[in-house]
Amino acid sequence: MIPVFPSSYGLCGLEYTKRIPDALSYESAFINFPALMDYDIIFFGGTGDLAWRKLMPALYEAFRHGALPGQGRILAVARDPLDSEAYRAWLRDRFGQLEWTEPFDEPMFRSFVTRVSYLKMDLGDASNYASLSQWIDQRQAEAVVFYLAVAPQLFIGICDALAKAGLNRPNMRIVLEKPLGHDLDSASLINAAVLRVFKEDQVFRIDHYLGKQSVQNLMALRFGNSLFEPLWRREWISSVQITIAEDLGVEQRGSYYDRSGALRDMVQNHLLQLLCMVAMEPPASDDADSVRDEKLKVLRSLRTYDKDELSTHVIRGQYRAGLSQGRPVCGYLDEVGVARDSTTETYVALRLEIENWRWAGVPFFLRTGKRLAARGAEIVINFRPVPHPIFQSPGGADHNRLVIRLQPDDTIELHLLAKASRRDRAEQGRLVPVALDLDFKEAFGRQSIEAYERLLRKVIAGRLDLFVRFDEQQAAWRWVMPILEHWARHPEECRAYTAGSWGPAAASALTAREGIAWPEER
Ligand code: NAP
Repeated sequence: MIPVFPSSYGLCGLEYTKRIPDALSYESAFINFPALMDYDIIFFGGTGDLAWRKLMPALYEAFRHGALPGQGRILAVARDPLDSEAYRAWLRDRFGQLEWTEPFDEPMFRSFVTRVSYLKMDLGDASNYASLSQWIDQRQAEAVVFYLAVAPQLFIGICDALAKAGLNRPNMRIVLEKPLGHDLDSASLINAAVLRVFKEDQVFRIDHYLGKQSVQNLMALRFGNSLFEPLWRREWISSVQITIAEDLGVEQRGSYYDRSGALRDMVQNHLLQLLCMVAMEPPASDDADSVRDEKLKVLRSLRTYDKDELSTHVIRGQYRAGLSQGRPVCGYLDEVGVARDSTTETYVALRLEIENWRWAGVPFFLRTGKRLAARGAEIVINFRPVPHPIFQSPGGADHNRLVIRLQPDDTIELHLLAKASRRDRAEQGRLVPVALDLDFKEAFGRQSIEAYERLLRKVIAGRLDLFVRFDEQQAAWRWVMPILEHWARHPEECRAYTAGSWGPAAASALTAREGIAWPEER
């Protein structure tokens, strides 16, 4: 059935009824969530920021949406001396600090929280795992999920201790949060330790960008509709730009961030995963390995640059004091927890090439940064201009664009050129840009779900398609390593930019060399 929505979108002043084709929704086209299994989910790091801001709210939302099987249990684990009652009260208090899209439903929370218990446990001490084992063995859940919402330094010890306690049975799954390692060697070490204990199909490596509705719909757009795929290649696409911009600085995470930087924190994982979703070949099916095989091929096709090219194609920056949303903010070097002589980058922009038949010669520009002019994440597919223009168009150089927006809202916009209205004399006869847009909140309303809810439901259902396989992660690290090594030799290449700007001027030059502007420069 095609839902018809009362709202309308405008095309050159004309009003059309908005109809959402079934095939555009990834959920309806591909994955209709399978029935979730009867589960026990254990959050290691149950009192942490990630747990109360993202994971517990996502489970609460899944519960509210009627998606959690009745018997399921949730266990929060940390070292605080709390009992379950105190933890539930603490969680309610924390939920009160969150912004909810709908009025908070107190009875619903009370019903949800009866499923939540707390276990005090030092995860670094293998002898503590007996109590966890006891809790798990109180019943036989179909799926037992260990979610590691703790620092990665604990991962190896946790895996060994789980194995020692016999908590790596076939019905058990482990979820790993970023950062998964600091470089190729440390990532390989963690993965080797995890894979000594669990099989690859029990391991769910989270990249929450893969759980976003727009990313799901990018798959649907490409592989559920016949319209775009014939154009999805070098003959019709001139460039691709992917941006993840933050207006915040490092906040309370200065000491963590200073050891990480934008390349490790955002590029190695999120940006390269988004690039894969745009560039991969159509998978043979929607099963996890078919999708992940195709992503892996993209990562293996990325051109590696020599050291001269690295200076030209990778721009690195660090913010200085400036204005953020109209208020003065300090520079990165004055942030708490940051070394005063730090050369850690808070911004990176890169030009990538994919060496295969589909994409040869098409530049992919990726960028991310903190303290930028605005918060937002988007993928822009720039199509080539028509081969023989017969109409005037603004600036003479406009072209079709597909904009997949991931933040702050999930939307997809198709930018077309249309004839200006005849009544508008100034524009008469000219082409003007217009956008067809699909706003998922408006389109799917209450049916739409947030990334962490989608990912947790996938974990409980045992579906791996939105999670990163070990070899993908390794290939991403392999590509990133020469950049890290180059930067270690050339710390002077880190450029200053003013907080509240769009990053170093060199990032504009990076695209301008090829006649392309970043979206905010158009
Ligand atoms: P956090 O606020 O510092 O929380 C860490 C949690 O781990 C706390 O519950 C802490 O509780 C527990 N913990 C630490 N050592 C423990 C031990 N030996 N035994 C038992 N529990 C222990 O950190 P976070 O922000 O939640 O982040 C957790 C991990 O997820 C980090 O690796 C982070 O990089 C990653 N991550 C976080 C976010 C986010 O939005 N916050 C997003 C993506 C990834 P006690 O100290 O009381 O034991």
